[in-house]
Amino acid sequence: MTTYWISNKKYWCKMCKIWCDAKLSQIKKHKSGNKHKEKYKNLIDRNRKIKYTQENNDQNRLLELNKIRKKALVSFKMKPRASLIGTFLLKNINFK
Ligand SMILES: [Zn+2]
Repeated sequence: MTTYWISNKKYWCKMCKIWCDAKLSQIKKHKSGNKHKEKYKNLIDRNRKIKYTQENNDQNRLLELNKIRKKALVSFKMKPRASLIGTFLLKNINFK
């Protein structure tokens, strides 16, 4: 009778990018470790920064569009012929 080696099931930690035993106790031990906790904290911080940056970019874009809109309105007021159509278009454009 031959014996052959069967490997234990493994658990892949996406955050640490390492394999560990798939036993529940080993997974819990890994997740309670300092290395895993620090990676988790870094991931959350990174996501928070990305979200904050995106929100800021959206706000800046809206501010820029509003500045352009105001300048265009002023420009149209100086040119009576274009003002009717231009003012109508600018008031009905949704910048969001
Ligand atoms: Zn981990």
